[in-house]
Amino acid sequence: MNRFAIDLYSDTLTRPTPAMREAIARAEVGDEQKREDPTVNRLQEMTAELLGHEAGLFLPSGTMCNLIAHCVWCRPGEEIIIEQSSHPVHFEGGGPAVGARVSLRALPSERGIFTADQVEAAVRPNDPHFPRSRLVCLENTHNMGGGTVWPLSAMQSVAEAARRHGLKLHLDGARLFNATIAGGYRPRDVGALFDSVWVDLTKGLGCPVGAVLTGARDFIEEARRYKQIFGGAMRQAGIVAAAGVYALEHHIERLAEDHANARRLANGLADIGGISIRPVEVETNIVMFDVAGIGMSRAEFFRRIEAEGVRMSGRLTPTGVRAVTHLDITQADVDRALQVVSDVVRG
Ligand SMILES: *Cc1c(COP(=O)(O)O)cnc(C)c1O
Repeated sequence: MNRFAIDLYSDTLTRPTPAMREAIARAEVGDEQKREDPTVNRLQEMTAELLGHEAGLFLPSGTMCNLIAHCVWCRPGEEIIIEQSSHPVHFEGGGPAVGARVSLRALPSERGIFTADQVEAAVRPNDPHFPRSRLVCLENTHNMGGGTVWPLSAMQSVAEAARRHGLKLHLDGARLFNATIAGGYRPRDVGALFDSVWVDLTKGLGCPVGAVLTGARDFIEEARRYKQIFGGAMRQAGIVAAAGVYALEHHIERLAEDHANARRLANGLADIGGISIRPVEVETNIVMFDVAGIGMSRAEFFRRIEAEGVRMSGRLTPTGVRAVTHLDITQADVDRALQVVSDVVRG
């Protein structure tokens, strides 16, 4: 049981729905490591098909998708061009350095979105003093940017810049379907631009475990080797992959509801004095706001809303707050959360 009635901490907090649990219970399984689990195979094929890629690989987490992609594309000592508030920079325990032995060239950005010119300027000249530039990574939607959607044209120009310099392109698509629903483009439009893409099953899609990495067949074969190295190869993983198959069939279109709830939350927060927020910047299911002006610390704000059953999380700044809508949050929950915040802030 969740002790918070309205948990906006993250979209990772969803519990499988009754229908998803039924799909899990009915799953046909085999030995995934021997490629004999039919449900895992189906999930991989479905995801690859959606992205327009040749093959997919079911992995235990999105973090492992990023790490494995870094390992396949880069040799130790090479450099990845990436946005400075992106997931691998802050939330993967130094994985790029430990697991792939690469360095990160972290670019500043406009809410997670950087430009082709920035990529051009960051590419290293061929000189033994410098690490060798190898890979450009994007995050769409951009989490710490505030659930920002990369416009298709912006991804295209960054991809062109990367190609001009012979760099590979990897997409952290933890919330890619939030981006495609809000951005009005298809997953395969995105897949066409990148050498590797992954999507998380455990965010907006509402699954208990896993992520799927996609790319060309030879990339996925190499990724499978690292999956084994990192201990990510599983056995009857169809039990959890079944949730992924169910979610791809039933939980993509409904992300629009989470976006509407996030907008509702943002508009309501904008009416509460002391809270600083720009509702127009709320594009998907992530709401970022600031509590510097409410006359109490963020820690105190959290304590008081939590006492009323509402939980949110901090962002990278000391007074920044992030609230995330998801499958287990209804419009009524949003209205109740707004009431709680309003009562707490107005004292
Ligand atoms: C959650 C997340 C990850 C990591 O995924 P896990 O499945 O939690 O390991 C990577 N990138 C972004 C943008 C994320 O939001």
